[in-house]
Amino acid sequence: MHIRSIRARLTLWYTSLLTVTFLLVGGVGYALLVYSLDHDVDEALKSVAQVLVERAQGGIAPFPPSEVDEVFRRFFGFSPWDRYFGMFDPIGRLDPRLPPPGSAKLQLSPKALKNAAEGHPTFETMVDLARYPVRVITVPVIQAARLVNLIQVGMSLENSYSTRRRYLLITAAVLPIALLLAGGGGWLLARRALKPVDRMAEAARRISAEHLAERLSDPGGGDELSKLAQTLNEMLSRLDESFNQIRQFSADASHELQTPLTILKGEMEVALRSPRSPEEYQRILKSALEEIDRITRLVEGLLLLARADAGVLRMDRKTVDLSQIVEEIYEQGKLLAAARHITLLLGQMEPTLIQGDAERLRRLLLNLMDNGIKYTPAGGRVTLSLQREGEWASLKVEDTGIGLSPEDRERIFERFYRSAEARSRGEGGYGLGLCIAKSIAEAHGGRIEVSSAPGLGSTFAVLLPLDS
Ligand code: ADP
Repeated sequence: MHIRSIRARLTLWYTSLLTVTFLLVGGVGYALLVYSLDHDVDEALKSVAQVLVERAQGGIAPFPPSEVDEVFRRFFGFSPWDRYFGMFDPIGRLDPRLPPPGSAKLQLSPKALKNAAEGHPTFETMVDLARYPVRVITVPVIQAARLVNLIQVGMSLENSYSTRRRYLLITAAVLPIALLLAGGGGWLLARRALKPVDRMAEAARRISAEHLAERLSDPGGGDELSKLAQTLNEMLSRLDESFNQIRQFSADASHELQTPLTILKGEMEVALRSPRSPEEYQRILKSALEEIDRITRLVEGLLLLARADAGVLRMDRKTVDLSQIVEEIYEQGKLLAAARHITLLLGQMEPTLIQGDAERLRRLLLNLMDNGIKYTPAGGRVTLSLQREGEWASLKVEDTGIGLSPEDRERIFERFYRSAEARSRGEGGYGLGLCIAKSIAEAHGGRIEVSSAPGLGSTFAVLLPLDS
């Protein structure tokens, strides 16, 4: 059976454990009680037998006259040997001189006779003498190193049995009461202890994507539940942050898409308002095509980032010579740089093999080189270089451009982030280029490091694991 409530399970465990403990303690107690009762009876029998043997050895009738017996009864409420006693000759015949009856009931076992012949006492429990078993001691009377008699004394185990019975009865009466109390107490305690869990579950149920700013109340006390509440709250904070980022991203992406689409629409509407010459139509269509190119680049960038976020960015894993890629991009960038009066240089180059996707790596380097050219004033320099550093390939794009303030350096890898400086230069980026570069580097198991100072230029270093 599977019990779903922790409270019920705890109570059940608790009660079961208590039952087992109670039974164990009760059992051990009972065994000790039986042992101690048996021991007491045997000790009493031994002392009485000892006295009787001494009397017999002194030539006195071992069994006191009935008056003494009477005195015992009156003072102690019992006679130590009760009605069970007997004296036998060395070959086991009952001594006919003995007083009161009752002695006839006792029998001498062959074992007792044998032990007596060797001078040892014998303890036996006889069960069919009376309603209760009788514990009997048989001792030898030895005179002048010769066995002259055997004395037997018995004691009914009635008292001892009723003490045992009382113990069992009390235990049986206390067990259910103790279990009931413990079970009830356990249930109440478990309920109290788990109350904060109910409250937390209730609060958690209220929290949805729209209410991620809400937090669970901490029951306090620094215990496990308090830690659980703190952990869940930290998780909620992280979720809240990611949700906000996603919202921000969607809003920014829509906004960035809206601008070129509005321009495109405006241009088309103006073009259609009056008839134009073929040259004019051509110019308008060219401008529209440029706008469409911008939109396409933006959508491609967004798609790449979305795939990287979802962990489904498809990557080729082939051996790629990075120096070849750097040289290709260098050739491609020379014209662009020259148009802006910037010198594009190839610095130190080492053949460097890595495992990766050549197309994506080209994109990465193009973005960095593009930025270097964009954010460097005319007359400046942009240098591409490639080196091996330990286990890493270090691909650097160094410029003598506008540089970055420490605050900007913190944020340039955020989506759609553009420094105030970059905005004022009117360069048409979307603030996605570095994000994409970073995603590609990370998808290759690498990273990007930036060092820069305002007005002194920047260096972007891409570190990628070497092919081993
Ligand atoms: P975009 O260049 O399209 O604005 P990026 O993601 O490539 O977007 O860059 C984000 C921002 O980082 C830029 O707007 C600019 O402020 C800053 N930045 C990037 N590269 C450089 C650089 N080489 N020198 C100075 N600032 C840079």
